[in-house]
Amino acid sequence: MSRLSIPGSGLAKGLAVTLRTMTKKTVTEQYPDVQPELPPRTRGVIGLFEENCTVCMLCARECPDWCIYIDSHKETIPAATPGGRDRSRNVLDRFAIDFSLCMYCGICIEVCPFDALFWSPEFEYSETDIRDLTHERDKLREWMWTVPAPPALDPGAEEPKELAAARKTADKLAAQQETAQQETTRQQAARATEPHADEQARAAEQPTRPMGDSKQQTDQPGPTSDRSKPRTTGDQPDQEGRE
Ligand code: SF4
Ligand code: SF4
Repeated sequence: MSRLSIPGSGLAKGLAVTLRTMTKKTVTEQYPDVQPELPPRTRGVIGLFEENCTVCMLCARECPDWCIYIDSHKETIPAATPGGRDRSRNVLDRFAIDFSLCMYCGICIEVCPFDALFWSPEFEYSETDIRDLTHERDKLREWMWTVPAPPALDPGAEEPKELAAARKTADKLAAQQETAQQETTRQQAARATEPHADEQARAAEQPTRPMGDSKQQTDQPGPTSDRSKPRTTGDQPDQEGRE
């Protein structure tokens, strides 16, 4: 049995929808005049923190789109101790992501074991040439400075191991700096007292002269003793000898 419709009910329903929508807050974004407020975990672009990358190639291998390009070479590090073995390490030559292929799945960031890749909410990097969407390592590093700080821990949460390790290293460095400072102060103080010590050492080294020597000293012409007298030929043995 078909339901009877009241004439004009459709119009009333339509007006009700219009009224409801008119009273709701507008969701239109005025971009680019007004920058949108994006959630902190927005997937805009990928930043590379190069110092953490060990060139393990995991991200490039796991990327479903094969849009991560990595080049590297091996470098030998001489042994730190005599008789030790030389070590080799990978040095990054190229790291690039082609954002024209990337599907923003985030797998590369998830699999990176060394926290070298991060999401940044930046999204304004459209290009007129598709080749410019391949971002090389310098550009990927620049994106790092736009990565938001991690959210604060829940109250009462256990401190992450990384923080404890960083604090331990910072404490150790501070202790080393303090020891070096104390050593410098001690050396400066020792240098300040050194002249007196030298004088004392010189005085101790001087031999005590016998009494006769003192007479000999007084017999020698002093600066004002015999020089004031007029000289005679007898006073000049050299000339006398020659005569
Ligand atoms: S987000 Fe996904 S597609 Fe893009 S580079 Fe990472 S793994 Fe590849
Ligand atoms: S997974 Fe991480 S450490 Fe390994 S190559 Fe990729 S970015 Fe570097």
